[in-house]
Amino acid sequence: MKDIADLYSKFLESSGVSTDTRKIESNSIFFALKGDNFDGNAYADQALEHGALLAIIDDETQKGDSKILVDNVLETLQELANFHRRQIQIPIIAITGSNGKTTTKKLTHEVLSKRFKVKATAGNLNNHIGVPLSLLSFTAELDLGIVEMGANHQKEIEALCQIAEPNYGLITNFGKAHLEGFGGIEGVIKGKSELYDYLIEHDGLIFFNRDDEVQVNKAIQHKNYSIGEKSLSDCQVIFKEAKPFVNVEYSNTTIQSKLIGSYNFKNISAAIGIGRYFGVDKEKIKEAIENFEPEEMRSQILKKNGHDILLDAYNANPTSMEAALRSFKQMTSKEKTVILGDMFEVGDDASKEHRHMLEVCKKLDFDVILVCGASFHKASSGFDDIKGFKTTDELKLYIKENKTLLTPDIMIKGSRGMKLESILDVF
Ligand code: ATP
Ligand code: MG
Repeated sequence: MKDIADLYSKFLESSGVSTDTRKIESNSIFFALKGDNFDGNAYADQALEHGALLAIIDDETQKGDSKILVDNVLETLQELANFHRRQIQIPIIAITGSNGKTTTKKLTHEVLSKRFKVKATAGNLNNHIGVPLSLLSFTAELDLGIVEMGANHQKEIEALCQIAEPNYGLITNFGKAHLEGFGGIEGVIKGKSELYDYLIEHDGLIFFNRDDEVQVNKAIQHKNYSIGEKSLSDCQVIFKEAKPFVNVEYSNTTIQSKLIGSYNFKNISAAIGIGRYFGVDKEKIKEAIENFEPEEMRSQILKKNGHDILLDAYNANPTSMEAALRSFKQMTSKEKTVILGDMFEVGDDASKEHRHMLEVCKKLDFDVILVCGASFHKASSGFDDIKGFKTTDELKLYIKENKTLLTPDIMIKGSRGMKLESILDVF
């Protein structure tokens, strides 16, 4: 069966698609994807034994009953997702950007759900596999779909747009994330803007942050709806404070969020703007934002042994780390400790960016500064009063033996691979 339409009719009979034999749903279609360390083809039999209806494979040697041999399993998954997207016809909003995609996607989902039947990307399924899987979970009964799109190199967003064919799009921000793959900040702007380029070419609508000059230049060339403090679209949202929770003013009402970090203002104002565009009632927008809780490890406050710990160990890059440090400084007037782990994928600028971050810490005058990871360890040698450790475990040991040094307020942030949440055990 080569034709995607034939496969689609099988998909309609199935319970959905699966890519992991540990989570096979009975009657699903198993796509034997290849990863760095595994080849799904080798698991096709197991998938069928666990109740899969069909297995899509691209290794001829694995041919057999209930298996469909294709040239490339990943491309077939993407083609099927695009075919499905065209069948269901629902309007789709794509969200990309360097930081805050998942948070903005969830906030927007909460807001739009007050008026519509909406489904959004589950978790962080935002790449060349996650986007097709998200699309295949959407149905024609929905009023709207929201798709998170992540990228770490050029042309990736363009490819995801070809699959998802969004009608609306938002770029949360252009930041210093995945600098290695994108080739610097100019590369990030170009790569993320592929979403706006797609919408311009396909007569879609651009949601853009009017407080961000770079976005303004790109977006005003086309059909758009502006959001943020400088919005011209009747959805102006004003930042009030972040002590620690972000409060904003919208349409003469104060909205008190449960989100920490002034950078979350952008994410909140985007959700409000999109809600307003789609006609969600003002009171309902307020309700949705006020009830929204942050996800695990994304700017959470934990209380432990007399400390207020701002745990932001989900991920980090130069833009989000600097934003988090500045926001943390403003939160209270108490003494402060910052515990930072290396920022990954920064590329050639790694030394410069890690040193810069320590200069920011010094300028903000934090009382205790502890850092870990190869890059921070190296950068810390230039600062007498910053303690640097090569690994998270070494830092953890130091904290265990020097607990009295820590101040009441503590912020923890680093890239996912640093697993900084593990140091919480010693508090
Ligand atoms: P990923 O690339 O892993 O999908 P994401 O873009 O989906 O990340 P979130 O998961 O929403 O981002 O947030 C991750 C972290 O990024 C937060 O914990 C916070 O530290 C930071 N962050 C969130 N929003 C912003 C923003 N608008 N500007 C700067 N930093 C932000
Ligand atoms: Mg995400």
